Amino acid sequence: MFRLFLVAVALAIAAGQAPAAGFVGNFQAAPPDPAHQRIALSLARGQIPQRIADHLNSVLQLPAPVLIQFQACGMENAFFSPRQRAVVFCYEMQDAIHKRVTWLSSSVGASTRTATEMLDGALWFILLHEVGHAVHQVADLPTLGRREDVADQLATWIAIRRPPAGVNEPITGGMLVFLNPQTRTDYEAMGGPHSLDAQRLMNVACWAFGADPVRYRELPDMVRLPDARRASCAEEWAAIDAAVPRLLGRVLKPARAAPW
Ligand SMILES: [Zn+2]
Repeated sequence: MFRLFLVAVALAIAAGQAPAAGFVGNFQAAPPDPAHQRIALSLARGQIPQRIADHLNSVLQLPAPVLIQFQACGMENAFFSPRQRAVVFCYEMQDAIHKRVTWLSSSVGASTRTATEMLDGALWFILLHEVGHAVHQVADLPTLGRREDVADQLATWIAIRRPPAGVNEPITGGMLVFLNPQTRTDYEAMGGPHSLDAQRLMNVACWAFGADPVRYRELPDMVRLPDARRASCAEEWAAIDAAVPRLLGRVLKPARAAPW
């Protein structure tokens, strides 16, 4: 099933849906599951896959095509497939995030608008994390840290320095992704490629607070960031902020001048 899916992605690329270089958005228009059909409809109505690709292409200049593919996968996942050069966002993952954000929002009495902004932010953060993997592989960038932590750093940097227009909560929405009731802290999880969800939550909170201690002033308390770590957030962010443009080099397009 999953192999068939990857073959479909490869065929989509081979069919010329991807340009010579850069991101291109695509989605499965008629998935069998009614819940996935609703997601596909909202993607189509908002032209979301292509708008995502357009934003990424305004920030990054990749030497090869990368497909941003929304599709049913038979599992709750989002990932970058190096072989197919595709960031795959599974409908199952979107559905799960939607349910989690809805539950969290209702439990704290958030408005529908806030819940929608959080959902958009969560989806963007996940996407930017996978785009971080894609950029690393496609642009053949060096790395020393764990790739999963680097992908979180790249996602946070883009969310703060080059946020997509109209997406107001890519950081706090992204943090919701790590508030996972099924989060694991066992031996297997500790030895895995990802930092633990609680660590990823605190990392993103720390970096965002370091970047903008006014806008994100509530985050350290919200995640109960230890005082000693809190004191180093500005320095951690400054290091990321200096490193990302140097790491990306020509892959990073210059920021557009502000219209004022
Ligand atoms: Zn990852």
